[in-house]
Amino acid sequence: MKPEKMGSPNQGIKCVVNTCHYYMSGDHCCAQQIEVQLKNAHDTQKTDCATFIPEGQSKY
Ligand code: SF4
Repeated sequence: MKPEKMGSPNQGIKCVVNTCHYYMSGDHCCAQQIEVQLKNAHDTQKTDCATFIPEGQSKY
C-alpha cells in the first residue's frame, strides 16, 4: 500500500522521522493514511510505521 502524499499535514499524526518521503517540517506526516505494526507488540519499541518510505525513494 502506497498512500497518496497530500499537500498538507495529516492532523491526526505527529511524526519525527525526518528521513521519510511523507515527512513534513514541524513533525508532520502528509500521508493520507498510515499503517502501524507489529501485531502483539508489548512495548513502544516493538511498533513502527510500515508506511515509511526513505526520502527520495519509491518502493514502486
Ligand atoms: S509515513 Fe510514517 S514514518 Fe513517514 S512521516 Fe508518516 S508517520 Fe512518519
